[in-house]
Amino acid sequence: MAVLPIYSCFHPLLKKPTTEVKEINDEIKKLVDDMFESMYKADGIGLAANQVGISKSLIVIDINASKDKKHDEPPVTMINPVIEEFSEEEVEYQEGCLSVPKFYEDIERPKLIQIKYYDLDMNEHVREADDLLSRVMQHEVDHLRGIIFTERMSPIKRSLAKSKLKKIQKGLVIPNYPMIGKDGNLLKLKE
Ligand code: ZN
Repeated sequence: MAVLPIYSCFHPLLKKPTTEVKEINDEIKKLVDDMFESMYKADGIGLAANQVGISKSLIVIDINASKDKKHDEPPVTMINPVIEEFSEEEVEYQEGCLSVPKFYEDIERPKLIQIKYYDLDMNEHVREADDLLSRVMQHEVDHLRGIIFTERMSPIKRSLAKSKLKKIQKGLVIPNYPMIGKDGNLLKLKE
């Protein structure tokens, strides 16, 4: 297994919709292992394949890796996930993203979803998700469609966050895990 660098939200690859996974081969299995390792290393609870530079429809989630350990959900790998239904009820929750280092904002999203996906044996699953799990799935499926959570902020919040986001865009915010900046270079602290 290997820790892969995580792409900044300003890298063009993260703006591009991913393509479907057609077959599960050793390359995909290794990618999944590496994605879990990279996610844990960065203290994340969800990661999409395009965040590590692979533009495929694949996400990994482990909400138990979150700081408050009150969840009882096993880690999950989701191939070609599609959200089929959203509840009308929306809730606000603070989100962060490994591709948007050290930036957190409250985002409103549907509370409940129904999601269809395939596992690593290409078995189809349809399940409902609520609360944090629903939140993370919506955030990660957004990534696969080229959408960053900051695009879901209200216009006011977005204009207030402008200078912070500008710093991230310029590669001046360095997380404690390896990160690829908007031009494809590994970010380093300036000496
Ligand atoms: Zn994210």
